[in-house]
Amino acid sequence: MTVYIIGAGLAGLSAAVGLAGAGGDVEIIEASAQAGGRCRSYVDPVLDMTLDNGNHLVLSGNRDTFDYLRRIGTDDCLEGPADARLDFHDVASGESWTIRPNDSALAWWILSESRRVPGTRPGDYLALLSLLLARTHRTIGQTIACRGGLWDRLVEPFLLAALNTEATSGSAALAGAVIAESLARGGKAYRARIAHPTLGAAFIAPALDYLAARGSRVRYASPVKSLAFAEGRVSAMILADGPIPLASEDSVILAAPPWISETLVPDLKVPQIFNAIVNGHFKMAPPPGLKPIVGVIGGTAQWIFAFPDRLSVTVSAADDLADQDREALAQALWRDIAKVHGLTDALPPWRIVKERRATFAATPEQNTLRPGARTAWRNLVLAGDWTATGLPSTIEGAIRSGKTAARLTLNLRRDA
Ligand SMILES: Cc1cc2nc3c(=O)[nH]c(=O)nc-3n(C[C@H](O)[C@H](O)[C@H](O)COP(=O)(O)OP(=O)(O)OC[C@H]3O[C@@H](n4cnc5c(N)ncnc54)[C@H](O)[C@@H]3O)c2cc1C
Repeated sequence: MTVYIIGAGLAGLSAAVGLAGAGGDVEIIEASAQAGGRCRSYVDPVLDMTLDNGNHLVLSGNRDTFDYLRRIGTDDCLEGPADARLDFHDVASGESWTIRPNDSALAWWILSESRRVPGTRPGDYLALLSLLLARTHRTIGQTIACRGGLWDRLVEPFLLAALNTEATSGSAALAGAVIAESLARGGKAYRARIAHPTLGAAFIAPALDYLAARGSRVRYASPVKSLAFAEGRVSAMILADGPIPLASEDSVILAAPPWISETLVPDLKVPQIFNAIVNGHFKMAPPPGLKPIVGVIGGTAQWIFAFPDRLSVTVSAADDLADQDREALAQALWRDIAKVHGLTDALPPWRIVKERRATFAATPEQNTLRPGARTAWRNLVLAGDWTATGLPSTIEGAIRSGKTAARLTLNLRRDA
């Protein structure tokens, strides 16, 4: 009675941890030579250091993420400020400011001029309530006024990062879901959290240890080429070195990306448009006291992160940038870092990482293409940040989808 999980990204690992924790027999089948998928760390030969494929920010209120981390014993591996304060710098005007939300859901910080975004009024913030009630087919631009100080200096950068989609065309419903789980719950739910020292150390390696300790197995470098179906169920998984036949009580959780999943399951509808994320890593120990996270307004860089051994930049919805020359990109991103942090223009050793299909485009149209976890086949369940989690393509969405898949699989077994 084995559950086969196709894909060792966060969705697959979350499902595996849930099932193995409940005493299930689990085998993960992963196409690449390592686990983690789009959330992975690797040793970079150019910088001679361990890098994350991208800086991944989660929020303190991401409940499923913290449940997962607690299970694998690494909830203390995410670091960040003691409150929800966030620093910003406008590279065109040279102006810097810090928002300082209070912890409770009663958002009195917007009444305080020294805590809210400079140049905004308390009433500006109430407009965000419309996103909480947004209909599924509406864009953000059709729901709120996408202009003014609050938009330019907080809402647009926040939603661009959360949706990885140009904010006005993003899904108002997905934006509303993010706000409902973060801003609407008060500052305690949206303290920024980053994996230290790496994504691999916080999210991936300890999950693999947790699984190994419970007898679960992982096959690497073994892409599933196709699935065989018979009598309303998956009857075998076909790998390069032959089929793995499924016994009548075995089941499958398909946690591969959408562009692979649609080739494995007949008539599966999946999102078709994807957006890039570009990260720049610069090898340099930051001077003492440097702000750990800064939102950049009006630059090429969008968010600058300070790690003990490097400064890193993230740019979302970066399809145009992903087509550009790496050297020119490194120069442009470093110019922004130098302006924000008052450093010299001399470019430190750098690495640009382009993830072209980082997430699905979080538009209303693409959102409607996301399938639920259940399928027409009795022993097949879907997982992945692209399934209908109600959230955009995020760590929280991926982990939640895995949790749902594990629960449905356990139910299938009870019903059998
Ligand atoms: C650069 C970047 C920055 C990001 N920043 C953030 C952030 O700040 N905050 C946040 O919340 N989210 C962020 N995300 C999104 C987050 O990384 C993803 O939502 C999450 O990792 C998706 O996990 P997944 O398991 O659904 O998919 P994946 O990670 O894609 O996992 C799918 C797995 O399936 C495997 N696979 C593929 N084909 C097969 C096959 N045929 N057989 C077997 N296995 C197969 C793949 O190798 C992979 O391991 C970012 C993503 C990127 C790329």
